[in-house]
Amino acid sequence: MTNKNESLFLRAQITTPGGVNSPVRAFRSVGGTPRFIQRAEGPYFWDAEDQRYIDYIGSWGPAILGHAHPLVVKAVQDAAARGLGFGAPTEGEIDMAEEICKLVPSIEQVRLVSSGTEATMSALRLARGATGRDKIIKFEGCYHGHADSLLVKAGSGLLTFGNPTSAGVPEDFIQHTLVLDYNNCQQLEDTFKARGKDIACVIVEPVAGNMNLIQATPEFLQTMRRLCTQYGTVLIFDEVMSGFRVALGGAQALYNIRPDITALGKVIGGGLPVAAFGGRADLMAHMAPLGKVYQAGTLSGNPVAVAAGLTTLKLIQEPGFHTRLSSQTNKLVKGIAAAASKAGVTFSADSVGGMFGLYFSSEVPTSYTQMMASDTAKFNQFFHLMLDAGVYLAPSAFEAGFVSAQHDDQIIAATIAEAEKAFFKMAV
Ligand SMILES: *Cc1c(COP(=O)(O)O)cnc(C)c1O
Repeated sequence: MTNKNESLFLRAQITTPGGVNSPVRAFRSVGGTPRFIQRAEGPYFWDAEDQRYIDYIGSWGPAILGHAHPLVVKAVQDAAARGLGFGAPTEGEIDMAEEICKLVPSIEQVRLVSSGTEATMSALRLARGATGRDKIIKFEGCYHGHADSLLVKAGSGLLTFGNPTSAGVPEDFIQHTLVLDYNNCQQLEDTFKARGKDIACVIVEPVAGNMNLIQATPEFLQTMRRLCTQYGTVLIFDEVMSGFRVALGGAQALYNIRPDITALGKVIGGGLPVAAFGGRADLMAHMAPLGKVYQAGTLSGNPVAVAAGLTTLKLIQEPGFHTRLSSQTNKLVKGIAAAASKAGVTFSADSVGGMFGLYFSSEVPTSYTQMMASDTAKFNQFFHLMLDAGVYLAPSAFEAGFVSAQHDDQIIAATIAEAEKAFFKMAV
């Protein structure tokens, strides 16, 4: 008997490198065969074998309402029936921009693009164009999409320039990228003291979700805001993941800090390709056609994608939406941590809004180095035990998890029960 997931994976590898269109999907770090998904509904999806899973990646964030929400699907169908795209402006794009400006107070003007990578890449160009400076600061373990100058590995130590994480990125392209430690205020102070006048922007995930989940300390973000203001440096919050998910107004609302530019993605497309960058109107005025910073996109503001995004943004404004999402996510991680402790497995967990982190370490990590020290072999074992039990977690120890509004008490309880069984198997 051949497993359909396996035969699809074999077939996919003939015409697609590694069989997938985005690397983490290939299960390389956890081992085994990726599940090919045929359909999804609410908190569940089904693979090619018709095996049902409780889904904790939610399309890596967008599925905040659960999969295939009827009102989002209806909006997409209605929009599609009116035409798939025009390459000319539509009223829906204005509605979308107004909604974003209303929900994210630091955004006065916004431009729509089609992926998070485009949003951060364009934000960076804007910061450089507006300041006339070249250097940028990013932090070790933060992922901002795959633009050349942001694909820089951890270069530890003050003023160490990073090495490219990817082949095909010339050293020259990243010579202006300074890589510092997340949550290290002193290092940031020292760097600004030495070369603040050369730094165009600081780009940061205000809640880091690409080295598992790591929360920024309020002091770290406050220090960053103060130094950027003092040196005329543009502060970019990459809220592609945290936006509309950790709180309605994103991490900036949670921490009460105003970045100059914000990058958005994931949730704002409601499952279709919409992303955006926006911020202070005086900065956004540097964008073409008004200013000299060029950026464009054939599918930017696509009407079908915007319909999905706009409907999603409306639905998450229901009173109590984020309070309930946070409390469900918190219940999940508390329950899983309690199960681990019962079984005597070294484990910790954390959550912010609808994002969570599971760590095979005794303490919740606060830095990239601490995160990297967690037990990945244990994670991989846990991942597969949960997968076999019908719970789909992110297939890597270094990714955050996502809960949707459809993860009710019964689903959370079922997940915790499976986690407990898994931990007891791991303990023997
Ligand atoms: C997902 C992500 C990106 C990249 O978005 P894509 O749509 O995958 O290009 C950028 N920044 C952060 C913080 C992300 O989580």
